[in-house]
Amino acid sequence: MKEFKHFINGEYVASASGKTFENRSPVDNSLIGQVHEAGEAEVDAAVRAAKAALKGPWSKLTQNQRAAMLNKIADRINERFDEFLAAECLDTGKPRSMASHIDIPRGAANFKEFADSMNHPTEGFRMDTPDGKGAVNVGHRTPKGVIAVVSPWNLPLLLMTFKVGPALACGNTVVVKPSEETPATATLLGEVMNECGVPPGVFNVVHGFGPDSAGAFLTSHPLVDAITFTGETRTGEIIMKAAAVGLRNVSMECGGKNPGLVFADCDLEKAVEGTMRSAFVNCGQVCLGTERVYVERSIFDQFLARMKEEVAKLKLGRPEDPDANFGPLVSLEHRDKVKSYYDLAREEGATVEIGGGIPDMGAELNDGAWIEPTIWTGLPEDARVIREEIFGPCCHIRPFDTEEEAIELANDTSYGLACAIWTENSARALRVAEQMEVGLAWVNSWFLRDLRTSFGGAKQSGIGREGGVHGLEFYTETKNICIKL
Ligand code: NAD
Repeated sequence: MKEFKHFINGEYVASASGKTFENRSPVDNSLIGQVHEAGEAEVDAAVRAAKAALKGPWSKLTQNQRAAMLNKIADRINERFDEFLAAECLDTGKPRSMASHIDIPRGAANFKEFADSMNHPTEGFRMDTPDGKGAVNVGHRTPKGVIAVVSPWNLPLLLMTFKVGPALACGNTVVVKPSEETPATATLLGEVMNECGVPPGVFNVVHGFGPDSAGAFLTSHPLVDAITFTGETRTGEIIMKAAAVGLRNVSMECGGKNPGLVFADCDLEKAVEGTMRSAFVNCGQVCLGTERVYVERSIFDQFLARMKEEVAKLKLGRPEDPDANFGPLVSLEHRDKVKSYYDLAREEGATVEIGGGIPDMGAELNDGAWIEPTIWTGLPEDARVIREEIFGPCCHIRPFDTEEEAIELANDTSYGLACAIWTENSARALRVAEQMEVGLAWVNSWFLRDLRTSFGGAKQSGIGREGGVHGLEFYTETKNICIKL
């Protein structure tokens, strides 16, 4: 039986209250272990450790020394790759074939790619003054302080390190609150930090839930200087209220209801392959995933038929099954939510093209959080299934007649995270992409990421951008030093 403790000031600690909660496998609902739930005391200890570490040996490191330490962390994750992989797959049930290509390598890469974040030129302006001697302005960046990192369960290591990497590179210290569903890799990362000589207090982890638990205690702690959050829009709203007290900065990466736009001049096979991935990888639990697909009428039937063929080929199975490319949802609770949308789709008048239910996985797996990959057609645009984020392996496909109509349908949502445009006409690609109300527009691809570029959402999908220089803006305080000559 595993035990997941908090990682505070370089040590693993249990909750003083003795309060724990169960961590169960979504594959078969078996018990993985007990997770300690942080109370106010543990969160306070973690935040104070992070605050103290800002003035300790961490602050004396040069940028190059810090960068070298981050590179070492990435190397150590890769050396312990199999342990991270096993931990992530146990928590999430996702196929090893996926986690070994995405979650763990990209999780490690976040430390390497962001190691040199601070090596970015700051601004400098020479100005005239009435005495003719002038003055020089120099932009100077300092760490923001203690960063609270609140992360979700869908890509646990990857999304957490996407924040921890640049935060540490900029000289901050962090307190991480991983999702209650996926405590394992954040816990393991504590060992790596110690092995790499990261000073105590620089990286801390507290476990627990959101309201009245670790999440709320952390985001309302007065010594937290900024909060970076990835999760549901509704949770983001609550965290922003907490951050308003003391006027703390927030970075919000929230939900999406992302469209795919498939034009008749696309490479059909490329569009099918990309849309399949964007709707069904990670059992549809990707914030950037496509839940609404708009297809030009002349290729609609052909596209739908090919999608159904490909969905029928998805192989459900345990993470370690080398042939499986489709795992369960993260929890039974989330399965209930997704299943309720499957039922709602029928009530709202959808034609279920494929899937729509809970598969029979056999006696050994039937207690797990399995669900069928699903395609619908025929829903009106005001259906709740079209308007609300489901976060499951499903999409609705609908025909359109003109480019203008496709853009209007795609933008008709309160979210604005991402879109995928499929066309071989590059002028059209740019024209459409420019009109999409999103933070990320992919053309003939999906989830292709260069970490130097901005990442984040428009509208209710988020506030601010991370990645590259954008992360630097969030994770540092810029001071203008004006020197009169
Ligand atoms: P969630 O909002 O339920 O939880 C995210 C984190 O917030 C968890 O650690 C949770 O414990 C914590 N939390 C919950 N309530 C809180 C509170 N009141 N105070 C402080 N912390 C609180 O999200 P989830 O279900 O874990 O993740 C799925 C959601 O995340 C989806 O909406 C998805 O679109 C979104 N997401 C967005 C991105 C992005 O980059 N935009 C990436 C991945 C996931």
